[in-house]
Amino acid sequence: MRLVGLTGGIGCGKTTVAAEFERLGVPCFVADRAGAACYDDSHFRNQVEKILGPAVIGLSGEIDRHAVADIVFADREKMEQLNALVHPRVMAAFAEWCKEQKAPYVLLESAILYEYGLDKYMDDVVAVYVGMGERIERLRVRDNVTEKQLMPRILAQMPAEEKMMRADYVVLNYEGNPRRQQVEYIHRQIMNKIPK
Ligand code: ADP
Repeated sequence: MRLVGLTGGIGCGKTTVAAEFERLGVPCFVADRAGAACYDDSHFRNQVEKILGPAVIGLSGEIDRHAVADIVFADREKMEQLNALVHPRVMAAFAEWCKEQKAPYVLLESAILYEYGLDKYMDDVVAVYVGMGERIERLRVRDNVTEKQLMPRILAQMPAEEKMMRADYVVLNYEGNPRRQQVEYIHRQIMNKIPK
């Protein structure tokens, strides 16, 4: 089965674009969701606490993911330690999920596909791009956050322009741009690469 990465900075529209691929019958694995599911495991939670300290434990004894985000977006080393914990689990979950899929190709959606070298496991990469101003505006509406809260998260990622340059295909997700047609075109190109 062909593996296709779907990437782009936070707020550029990956989820929105993934929905267009899903409409065409392409299954999509969301790495971020699999990362969040790691926190269901108490052994994992203990390891996170060991790296990030007791400040990440919320009032109910659960991991406070907002506290985790605040720490790792301000401390690169801690972010790398956390990712070293999360990354193999997410890839193992992806490999298991792939075994159940019947489609000619599947998508792995991850904002940090390039940052963590996951692109080397992919046959193709699709990057979603929109300018910084639009991203900030959309995230302010989607997540009810301020630009000040957003900037460390945006700056922790590789510049969106670099992702666009490295990708095999790009979806330009400006408002009013024909997103559906762009996805259909890319889908046809990928399908043409798959031996009949
Ligand atoms: P990501 O998954 O990359 O973080 P989303 O797909 O959640 O981004 O998109 C961020 C926000 O922008 C969402 O609220 C979404 O509805 C909105 N959005 C996405 N694409 C467009 C578009 N072309 N025009 C206007 N709003 C959009």
